Amino acid sequence: MFLVSSREMLHKAQLGGYAVPAFNIHNLETAQVVVETAAEMQTPVILAGTPGTFSYAGTDYLIGICKEAAKRYHMPIALHLDHHESYSDIQKKVEAGIKSAMIDGSHLSFDKNIDLVRKVVQFCHRWDCSVEAELGRLGGQEDDLIVDEKDAMYTDPDAAVEFIKATGIDSLAIAIGTAHGLYKEKPCLDFDRLGIIRGKTDVPLVLHGASDVPDEDVRRCIELGITKVNVATELKIAFSDAVKSYFIENPGANDPRHYIIPGKEAMKKVVQDKIRVCGSEGKL
Ligand SMILES: [Zn+2]
Repeated sequence: MFLVSSREMLHKAQLGGYAVPAFNIHNLETAQVVVETAAEMQTPVILAGTPGTFSYAGTDYLIGICKEAAKRYHMPIALHLDHHESYSDIQKKVEAGIKSAMIDGSHLSFDKNIDLVRKVVQFCHRWDCSVEAELGRLGGQEDDLIVDEKDAMYTDPDAAVEFIKATGIDSLAIAIGTAHGLYKEKPCLDFDRLGIIRGKTDVPLVLHGASDVPDEDVRRCIELGITKVNVATELKIAFSDAVKSYFIENPGANDPRHYIIPGKEAMKKVVQDKIRVCGSEGKL
């Protein structure tokens, strides 16, 4: 029972008016940072991996790391399949023990997106795995997923109602002006659209692309009904910048146990900040 679905933690957050942070991890060290910080701050947490991360680190390795972390800190952890696009890929990983999945059919037509998501929901719910889907389309880049700005599309509130009803999903990622990666100019979020979607729907709503969005905007989204906040890019930047600085100061360094530490410390600060913005501290 160490790896849990994200259904219960998101429902609790929705009732409590805060959001659960979902942090993208890539390996042992990044998982260590997230879980250690989450335990210290007693927050529910989701550890997310894109298909690229799972093929890099190995599904079994990632499951093993997260299970051990959950045991070590006596806290349930949701290991989440972020932006997975294939039914058979999700099937394999859920059968390996993962209980939280995103099926991203946002590149498909509305009807094809519904067909794919419904099929994934039917399978996942048999295994007590919660399912997130996306309607509308975020621009930007996350791993191998690149969406040109002209192809980005905001979520239509009435379509969201129909989509949720037709698929039986547990949570919905919406597009309201955030993008994956960093922003060229300050993002302009469509708060009105978020309010309307929230008013018409009842499943937890998910904000992707929260890296580099001003804290006050993320807080406003949570007040208006966002229940899960995804953070990836800012963690990678903090980690790698700190490691780069370490090598500049210590050009002869070669021991990973030394040069990785500043990366972990820098990433930890971002994780702490995002947990505070989500308002989830002490809600475990
Ligand atoms: Zn995303």
